[in-house]
Amino acid sequence: MEVISHFIDGKKFTKSDSRKSKVFNPATGEQIAEVELGSKEVIDLAVESSAKAFLKWSKTTPITRARIFTKYKELLVKNMDELAELVSKQHGKTIPDAKGSIQRGIEVVEYVTGITSSLKGEHSSNVGTNVDSHTLRQPLGVCAGITPFNFPAMVPMWMYPVALACGNTFILKPSEKDPSCPVRLAELALEAGFPAGVLNLVNGDKEAVDALLEHKNVQAISFVGSTPIAEYVYHNGTKNNKRVQALGGAKNHMVIMPDADVDKTTDAIIGSAFGSAGERCMAISVAVCVGKNTNEKIKNNLLEKTSKLNVGPYTDEKSDFGPLSSKPHYEKVLGYIDSGEKEGAKLLSDGRNFKKQGYENGYFVGPTIFDDVKPEMKIYKEEIFGPVLSMMTTNTYEEALNLVNEHELGNGAAVFTKSGNIAKHFTENAKIGMIGVNVPIPVPVAYHSFGGWKRSLFGDHSIHGPDGVRFYTKLKTATVTWVEDNAGPEFTIPVLS
Ligand code: NAD
Repeated sequence: MEVISHFIDGKKFTKSDSRKSKVFNPATGEQIAEVELGSKEVIDLAVESSAKAFLKWSKTTPITRARIFTKYKELLVKNMDELAELVSKQHGKTIPDAKGSIQRGIEVVEYVTGITSSLKGEHSSNVGTNVDSHTLRQPLGVCAGITPFNFPAMVPMWMYPVALACGNTFILKPSEKDPSCPVRLAELALEAGFPAGVLNLVNGDKEAVDALLEHKNVQAISFVGSTPIAEYVYHNGTKNNKRVQALGGAKNHMVIMPDADVDKTTDAIIGSAFGSAGERCMAISVAVCVGKNTNEKIKNNLLEKTSKLNVGPYTDEKSDFGPLSSKPHYEKVLGYIDSGEKEGAKLLSDGRNFKKQGYENGYFVGPTIFDDVKPEMKIYKEEIFGPVLSMMTTNTYEEALNLVNEHELGNGAAVFTKSGNIAKHFTENAKIGMIGVNVPIPVPVAYHSFGGWKRSLFGDHSIHGPDGVRFYTKLKTATVTWVEDNAGPEFTIPVLS
């Protein structure tokens, strides 16, 4: 059986006596590999390697770093098929879905090929007589990233390209559920020309995360995962004086106005609620219809289209979405459907007994739709992270907006309408980090920043784009004058009184 190891200091690193965890193909339920779980000792080695690499890497010019990223981008594109296969085999998503997500990661790499512009400082002449001021953005040192199972390529690429381009070195701790693609990304980085130690990877679980949170030479932590762990990482990281950005879970609403185009809206719901089996932090999981008529029209159209969806393994090109990623998660999602039924929501489409011939042990759940969901129900309050849509109906737009704003999570939300006024009002008043107007999954592109509000993000910075550069750099301001020898006091600066 394949054993997936770490990647430290430019080579695979194995510690044969380490704890291991099983890696599965979720479409078949078969174990396909095991992954080593890094201990504190392994983290110490990785930090030592990253700290050593930082001494030289931080002194390279931004254009040198950008050129290596250009080469890296070419390698990622060239190896796209292999990378997508690694993602799909261990996560379960379809190949087009896997490729789409890798492409979004590559766009961050493309963004940082222009890092020279982002690292330019500001300059003010004559802040005093013969005195100028300018700012510098300098790297932090060794940074670390902890990533979730649902995007094993894209989410790591939200982090390390920006960190490295800013002159930091980086340790990636990917999800232990689907670690092979991240390891390959690290190998390709070495091939592209990043020196050994600039990008290290340690596989693992809580033990490795805790070791990173406690290590005195780790300066910053980026985390993406569930809200309870995001909160834990934020508090423990900041307690140890690290800069932390911790992105958590989501419950994304789509508000559907009576004037929304029924066909386009239901197509958008199908893609965003069931695509990737609902395992997206930007998935729409709540459809709020304004008015009973809207609910009727959307519901009927949705049920008709949902019945035509193909659920199956990534190896079948006809599959619209695949299985859930692991058995415990599969059981958790089934538990939520049971709970919704018990709490009195109307189950319009039940994905619990879905079986795929030849894949009876796979973790498949069919598209599931509840109507008449109420705010106090568990299926509304909590993130399900599966192909389960909750439908609700309100009498007015204000009530719908209120639902969005009262929810404790605030990653994304969309409004579907033909009214510019409603769209503007929603964009300005929804307490949410990423808004879609007639766009169901409003994931910001690489040169904007990604991040939620409320309990969907702990910390002050969103990820990638300009906020990513701010997160991975420290601001310095220099005030400068040049005085000729014996020229006397020829400069003045404003004095605080
Ligand atoms: P998770 O929180 O279980 O795990 C995320 C990472 O934390 C993994 O690397 C894991 O090894 C580590 N981890 C798990 N338990 C830990 C513990 N007790 N202590 C320390 N570290 C621990 O999340 P997941 O199940 O892998 O991913 C799904 C979640 O991620 C969903 O909630 C989803 O919404 C969220 N997510 C959020 C975003 C976003 O941008 N906001 C993006 C993708 C996924």
